[in-house]
Amino acid sequence: MTECTKCDREAVMHAAYSGSHLCETHFCASVEKRVRRRIREDDLVPGDATPEDPETWVIGLSGGKDSVVLTTILDDIFEQDPRIEMVALTIHEGIEGYRDESVDACVELAEDLDMRHELVTYEDEFGVRMDDVVEDDPEGMAACAYCGVFRRDLLESYADEFGADKLLTGHNLDDEAQTALMNFLEGDVRQMAKHFDASIGSFDEREEQDAFIPRAKPLRDVPEKEVALYCHLQNLPAHITECPHSSEAYRGEIQRLLFDLEENHPGTRHSIMAGYEELAGIVAERYRDDGTKADLHECDECGSTTTTGGRCRKCDLLAALEAV
Ligand SMILES: [Zn+2]
Ligand SMILES: [Zn+2]
Repeated sequence: MTECTKCDREAVMHAAYSGSHLCETHFCASVEKRVRRRIREDDLVPGDATPEDPETWVIGLSGGKDSVVLTTILDDIFEQDPRIEMVALTIHEGIEGYRDESVDACVELAEDLDMRHELVTYEDEFGVRMDDVVEDDPEGMAACAYCGVFRRDLLESYADEFGADKLLTGHNLDDEAQTALMNFLEGDVRQMAKHFDASIGSFDEREEQDAFIPRAKPLRDVPEKEVALYCHLQNLPAHITECPHSSEAYRGEIQRLLFDLEENHPGTRHSIMAGYEELAGIVAERYRDDGTKADLHECDECGSTTTTGGRCRKCDLLAALEAV
């Protein structure tokens, strides 16, 4: 047996990037500690939040391990803190079987935590189900491309309806390192700047766009494998299987590349993110000074915010689906 680096109990995990072996207790504590530190370093709790005028945080709760772990840890930290009010928001995309089970996990978790929980569906909101969208596919796109547009629209509009000051999502270290690497490989510097202002910089350094609810990702220092282990050790109700329509081919390639790099050079994900965040911050500042930030318009049809003018992407897609 391998002993815990911090006590004499048996280690349940080994983190090659830090060299530490941790027992169940010390591992769980280390995950929670990293989330607390991220919340502090990103200045998530503003100085002017008071029990009389609390902040509202909407948490995107999909029922997968990441959002379940995020919701649980946030509840643990802020349950007794009257400055923060939390609402869990679940979106049902209309994916038979898959989403039904994960919605059950969300309901169970929200009940366990005694947290306000809201459920919205593509079917009620847009009159479409992802299972049908995949069949029709009027734009010849991957399922995730449609789904992403619809999900962003609902997260944004419902977070707004619930008076959210922030929208929190369960992206982990692997997700963020993949996105960073994709932006590098695609040479998309503007996207790096956007990524920074939208969700990864500290609230002190970011420039918030009034039309969008600022996002935060408190799990972004924790590797995916550790999120899964935490979920398992804490016995949390999470739905593990992958979406049956999932087909982000390029991201899959990047994921395998990063996996091999991390195996051979532990710490790669952390170093990618440290460098990327610094660079993205500089670029974001530069673009602000240039005054080249995208103009924002209201969609002619639904009124949601768009950068293109005319009709928003979601309304375009819905019209294309309608025409099938
Ligand atoms: Zn220990
Ligand atoms: Zn629209």
